[in-house]
Amino acid sequence: MTCVVVGAGLTGLSAAWELTRAGTAVVVLESERRTGGVVLTERRDGFLVEGGPDGFLAADGDIPALAGELGLGDRLVDQAARGSMVWTGRRLEPIAEGRAAELLGIQLPTDIRAVPTDVGAQHAAPLQSGFRSFAGGMAELPEALAARLGPIIRTAQGVTGIAPTARGWRLAVTGGASLEADAVVLALPAWSAARLLAAVGVARARELDDVVYAPSVTASLAYRRDQLNGRLEGSGFVRAAEALGAVRACTYAWLKYAGRAPSGYALLRAFLEPADGDPASLAHGELATVLGLSGTPLWSRVFHWQRGLPRYKPGHAERVAHAREQLGRLAPLDVAGAGFDGAGVSACVRSGREAAKRVLGRLGIHPGAPPRGQTSPWETLRG
Ligand SMILES: Cc1cc2nc3c(=O)[nH]c(=O)nc-3n(C[C@H](O)[C@H](O)[C@H](O)COP(=O)(O)OP(=O)(O)OC[C@H]3O[C@@H](n4cnc5c(N)ncnc54)[C@H](O)[C@@H]3O)c2cc1C
Repeated sequence: MTCVVVGAGLTGLSAAWELTRAGTAVVVLESERRTGGVVLTERRDGFLVEGGPDGFLAADGDIPALAGELGLGDRLVDQAARGSMVWTGRRLEPIAEGRAAELLGIQLPTDIRAVPTDVGAQHAAPLQSGFRSFAGGMAELPEALAARLGPIIRTAQGVTGIAPTARGWRLAVTGGASLEADAVVLALPAWSAARLLAAVGVARARELDDVVYAPSVTASLAYRRDQLNGRLEGSGFVRAAEALGAVRACTYAWLKYAGRAPSGYALLRAFLEPADGDPASLAHGELATVLGLSGTPLWSRVFHWQRGLPRYKPGHAERVAHAREQLGRLAPLDVAGAGFDGAGVSACVRSGREAAKRVLGRLGIHPGAPPRGQTSPWETLRG
């Protein structure tokens, strides 16, 4: 019994973890040379730079639960600085919890299932408890998963096609190879999964490509503390719609979580609109005005995500449910990830694990228990 997970972002790694726990043979195919997808942490000169997510909603239990299973429970850290400000174009003013996410157009889990009647209240609820992260940055989680899953992960092996066979599925892999599978979890961005499903003949699969992935540019800038002339309040600011500038928001990374910069240094992370010019210079120029910075950054690191955070159109949950219903008529095949069940990292972990459980159910395997005659690799290790 072989299950193939396509995509080794946080969703795919979580799905693979759930599948291995049930004792099935798993192969993970990832088109890039590195695992983790959008979750990426760089460590540099005692700084810790996040390329993608920098934390998860503390109200969600999925990541702490997974971290516990991986022995990472003691690596979780709480948000230190709380609260956000808004840059009006003239000054920074405090704003209510939830308003920052709203100004940035971030859709919280509540947004996927229902159009909120009271947007402010809906946004505020999951945000009240703040965010959490890992002492070594968010990549600690996918790195630990990849280390535990080991050689079942095959990087630089993208899936180019999928076709039904008598036994299950045949996956075409870049370079001309193919792989047979009894069950498949597609943990891919929506546009990529939609293309593969349409080729299999899933009715209205192309509609899943309705998800809009907004481009995102972040610039992390390192300074000495003495270059900051004012006292910073909260964990960052967002720009008001009426204020001009390329910087949409800025996180005071070294205040938000401990261990992001060595003592005596500061790390800022700006989120920019796609604009002409060097994002780091643009960010420094604007942040110098807003935060009263002197001199120039010690160094900067820019990340470009051509397709960053997904945004769902009305009816998204119904379209996903319909696609899954169609998939239920085929050999075990499921979709998971930010393009389907929620953009946040907690939702991705949950989505990956639930897709794995559905696939196991279709194979007649009870999640968490090895199939008859087989021993879970983790039990072998323990035993
Ligand atoms: C700048 C930024 C900041 C964010 N901040 C936060 C935050 O603070 N908190 C939060 O909760 N969320 C945040 N998010 C959202 C969150 O990080 C992502 O939604 C989530 O990590 C997506 O995980 P995924 O595994 O579903 O997708 P991905 O990470 O996109 O993984 C998909 C994987 O599939 C691979 N792949 C693609 N095509 C193929 C193929 N044909 N064959 C094989 N492999 C393939 C890709 O290379 C990739 O590794 C942020 C996102 C961005 C862009």
